[in-house]
Amino acid sequence: MEETDQNIVMFPFMAQGHIIPFLTLALQIEKMGNYKIRFVSTPLNIKNLRKSLPPSSTIHLVEIPFDSSNYGLPPGLENTDAVTYDLMLDFFEASLSLKPHFRNLLNDLITGGDPLLCVITDMFFGWTADITHEFGVFHAIFSGCSGFGLGCYYSLWMNLPHRKTEFMEFSLPDFREAGKVHVTQLMDIMLKADGTDRWSKFLVYNLSSWVKSDAIMFNTVEEIDGIGLSYFRRKLGLSVWPIGPVLPSVDNRSRGGKNFGVSSDVCMKWLDSKPLNSVLYISFGSQSTISASQMTQLAKALEISGKNFIWVVRPPLGFGINAEFNAEEWLPEGMTKRVEEQNRGLIVSRWAPQVEILSHKSIAAFLSHGGWNSVLESLSYGVPIIGWPLYFEQFFNVKLLEEEIGVCVEVARGTQLEVRCEEIAHTIETVMRNDGKGKKMRDIACEVKAVIEDAIRDEEDYKGSSVKCIQEFLNAALLTKESRTEDAKVGKL
Ligand code: UDP
Repeated sequence: MEETDQNIVMFPFMAQGHIIPFLTLALQIEKMGNYKIRFVSTPLNIKNLRKSLPPSSTIHLVEIPFDSSNYGLPPGLENTDAVTYDLMLDFFEASLSLKPHFRNLLNDLITGGDPLLCVITDMFFGWTADITHEFGVFHAIFSGCSGFGLGCYYSLWMNLPHRKTEFMEFSLPDFREAGKVHVTQLMDIMLKADGTDRWSKFLVYNLSSWVKSDAIMFNTVEEIDGIGLSYFRRKLGLSVWPIGPVLPSVDNRSRGGKNFGVSSDVCMKWLDSKPLNSVLYISFGSQSTISASQMTQLAKALEISGKNFIWVVRPPLGFGINAEFNAEEWLPEGMTKRVEEQNRGLIVSRWAPQVEILSHKSIAAFLSHGGWNSVLESLSYGVPIIGWPLYFEQFFNVKLLEEEIGVCVEVARGTQLEVRCEEIAHTIETVMRNDGKGKKMRDIACEVKAVIEDAIRDEEDYKGSSVKCIQEFLNAALLTKESRTEDAKVGKL
C-alpha cells in the first residue's frame, strides 16, 4: 500500500481485557505501513493509556466524553475494573450514550479532510457499524474472545436453549459441533434470562447488530480455533479473520496503564532462583476475584501441594474492589509468613507483570480464569492451564482447551460453587508433574506454541495464517475506500 496517511479509528470497550489487545493490535498495524491510527476511549482510560504508549508511537489518543454520574453510576467510573458486578449492566447500558459522540467524531474527522480507511470497534459496540456505514466507511469488529467461546456465548444468548429443556446438559441448536453445555457453565444472568429482561435486551441488541458489520477479526489462530470461526462464518456470512495472537510485548509499557503490585525485576529475580518448570502462576485476569471460602481452599491447596507459586491476589468477593490489600486477613492464618520464610511464593497485590512471568522457563502451569488474553499468553509460551472459569465465555474457552486441544484441566467453576482444597491440590500436582498427564499437556502446549509462532511468522517469502488474514483485512478496507472514491468521482455519493 503506497498511499500515505491511511486513517484508522479504533474503539475498544472500556475494560482492560479489551483495551490491551486493541492497543497491541494498534501497535502492530502501525508497524505494517503508513497508517494514522486514532485510538478512541473515555477521558480516564485515555489518561491511563498515555503511560502505556511507547514514546516512538504515532498513535493518537482521542477522548470521547463519558460521565458515569449521568447514568446513576458513581462518578469517575470508566473501566470495568472499577465496576462491581451489580453495576455491570448499568455500565454496559451507559456505554450506549457514546453513540452521538462517536458519530460526531467520525463526522469531524471526515469533514476535517481525513478520509477514513476503516473503523475497528469492540464486540460490545456493534451499534458502531450503522454509524460507520452512514459515512460509507469499512467497519470491522475486533473480538478479543476465542471463536469457540464467543460462538457458544452467542448461541446461548440468541437461543436460550436452557429455557427449553429440563436436562442439566444440552446441545446448542445452531452450534452442535461445540458439544454439550452444562447449566453450571451459565452465569446467573443467563439462567434467569427470558428474552425480555434487561441483560437479554442489551446483549441481543448488541449481538444482532454484528451482522451489519463488514467483518469480524478474532484475536485467535485458525489452526486452534477453527470450530468457532466456522460457526461465525456460517452464522453471519461475513469475512471472519483470525489475526491473532496479538500479544503485548514483554516490557512494562503496553499493559493499558496499570501499576504492578510487584516489579518485573523482583519477579524475574525470584523466578530465576527456581528450577525449570517448578512454579505455578495464579491469576484471575484483570478484574475478577473468587469468594472468600474459595480463596481459603485455594490457599490450603497451595500449602498441601508444597509447590512454588506466584499468586495475584485481589480482595475476595464481598470485600469491595477497592478494599485495602490485606492478604493476612484473606488467607489462612500465618500463610503469608510461612510462604515468605520458605521462599516458596510471591503473593502479589492485584496486578502482576503477567506476560513476563509466563515467559519465564521456571513456570510450569497457569491457574487461570480462562480469559482469552491469558490463554493466548500462556499458550504462546507453551504453558499448560489449570482452568477455573468465572464468567461469560470463559467456561467455553476452558471447554475448548480441555476437550478439543488437550492443554487444560478444569479445576473449578464459577464463584458460587464450593471447592475442596484436596481436589485442587490433586489437580495442581497432576498438571505440574513431569510425567503422565502433566507431561502430555506440556508437550501439547509446546506444539500449540509452535502453531502460534507459525501463524504470526511474517517473512519475505512466508506469511503465517494470521499475517495473511490481517493483510486481507487491510486490502478489503482499501478496496472499499477506493470504490467510494470512484463513486464520488462519478457523482454517486
Ligand atoms: N493482566 C496482567 N496482570 C495481572 C492480571 C492481568 O498483566 O495481574 C493482563 C493479562 O496479561 C491479560 C489481561 O490482563 O492481557 C487479562 O485479560 P483476560 O482476557 O485474560 O481476562 P479479563 O481481564 O478480560 O477477564
